[in-house]
Amino acid sequence: MRLKLLAAASVALMAAACAMPTGPTPSTPIEAAAPAADHAQLLEDLRILSADDMQGRDTGSEGGAKAREYIVSRLEALGVQAPLMGRLQPWEMQGRSPTGPRTWNGTNIIGLIPGTRASDKYIVLTAHYDHVGVHEGQIYNGADDNASGVATVLEIAQRLKAEAPEHSVLLVFFDGEERGLLGARHFVEAPPVPLSSIALNLNLDMISRPETDKKLWAVGTYQHPNLRTLLEGIAPNGDVSLAFGKDTPQDEGNDNWVNASDHAPFHAAGLPFIYLGVNYHPDYHRPSDDFDKVIPAMFGSAAELSYSAFRALDRGLSR
Ligand SMILES: [Zn+2]
Repeated sequence: MRLKLLAAASVALMAAACAMPTGPTPSTPIEAAAPAADHAQLLEDLRILSADDMQGRDTGSEGGAKAREYIVSRLEALGVQAPLMGRLQPWEMQGRSPTGPRTWNGTNIIGLIPGTRASDKYIVLTAHYDHVGVHEGQIYNGADDNASGVATVLEIAQRLKAEAPEHSVLLVFFDGEERGLLGARHFVEAPPVPLSSIALNLNLDMISRPETDKKLWAVGTYQHPNLRTLLEGIAPNGDVSLAFGKDTPQDEGNDNWVNASDHAPFHAAGLPFIYLGVNYHPDYHRPSDDFDKVIPAMFGSAAELSYSAFRALDRGLSR
């Protein structure tokens, strides 16, 4: 999610307005492109999480619970352990709804992959699994927003199980993002590890539709320029390249994404963050944000860039 109160028409206009890249072009690539990967599981996770039987994955709904069961089953299949506090982090928070403020009950999902070099420092890799549910009989499947981020985190988790990260990694799938970043706010208020041990939040939200401008935007390097030096060398993948921006004082209104998703509570707590996401597209926050709109090669490229970003940050942080 990024803007929930905007009319769909203005969102579509904004997508057009946002299409001008504002960041500089990436410098000469220093990392080889990842080898061609099999994205069958990535696409299967996306398809399952955005299917009609998930009913738009609203917080507290049966569809949300079904999505949660699926994510837990995938973590267990991958052999990703639970942290000491347990796999699930339930919460009750005040949030928003189409009819005004209300109390929401949600559940974050957490996995832990121990690091090799800096195991007492954590990268918190996040994606929200909730979406906005069903309205007027129409299911908002939220394929891009944000089944795509969940599928990408699961893909990264699979690779980290094969080649361990340097930092310990908390994989966190947030609930209640669409209702006011509720799961992320709760996590920062009641973290499973001390906030002082969190080196970075890398947040993935809307990863599968980079076709608007063929960019995956990395937000937060204005606030943390040292992180930009770690990411600049990442080569484009297929037709998609990493871009920097949407985070400066000149990026105004809905073109500034510093507080647009679950990284915002981490930023507010003074923790470094990078947010990865694609530009607005015509299906954003519409019932048409469906699996069949996703171009597999485009999603695959954006997922590979996300993976490369994770590795570059993991290797470069606190060196
Ligand atoms: Zn979202």
